[in-house]
Amino acid sequence: MGGQASSQLFAVPDQEQILRETGFSQATVERLYQRFQVLDKEEKGYLSKEDLEGIGELAVNPIGDQIINAFFQDGRETADFQTFARVLAHFRPAEGPGGSENVNSRLSKLKFAFQLYDQDKDGKISRAEILQVLRLMIGIQVTDEQLQCITDRTIQEADKDGDNAISFEEFAKSVEKLNIEQKMSLRILK
Ligand code: CA
Ligand code: CA
Repeated sequence: MGGQASSQLFAVPDQEQILRETGFSQATVERLYQRFQVLDKEEKGYLSKEDLEGIGELAVNPIGDQIINAFFQDGRETADFQTFARVLAHFRPAEGPGGSENVNSRLSKLKFAFQLYDQDKDGKISRAEILQVLRLMIGIQVTDEQLQCITDRTIQEADKDGDNAISFEEFAKSVEKLNIEQKMSLRILK
């Protein structure tokens, strides 16, 4: 252990593509890769759900499970470094050029946030899905009745076509005034 580690530390796989996609600086990608390698205890080259559950920030995040699921789209059970970096890029302000095309962009962050709610992936946030997230986020301080109330109000305010669910367009419109960059910040890196 350790003998060749120092020379391999910065050999980030697919580095060029990751830099382009995420808008991260090279230093950030290198730090993320070190973090990835630490999480990948058995040096498999990819992370499992159990590995990600070791991230303290996610363990204490009320929607940590939803965020962890975002690393494993399309039924996959492992996340390689590129996937890891892409998902984390949603939670970081853009660094350097590339703005609107990379996953740091506002639209991309919105889509990602929408997916965190839309757990059954039918393209709509249902009442039950809102309730589930709200329960996780503010569950302890409010009664079930209050929670139902907040859910109804959230839907009423965002639901423009009256189907009792929130489409991506409705979602994007309702959070238009929020500072999504700030809301989506999650400090994975120390
Ligand atoms: Ca849904
Ligand atoms: Ca609707």
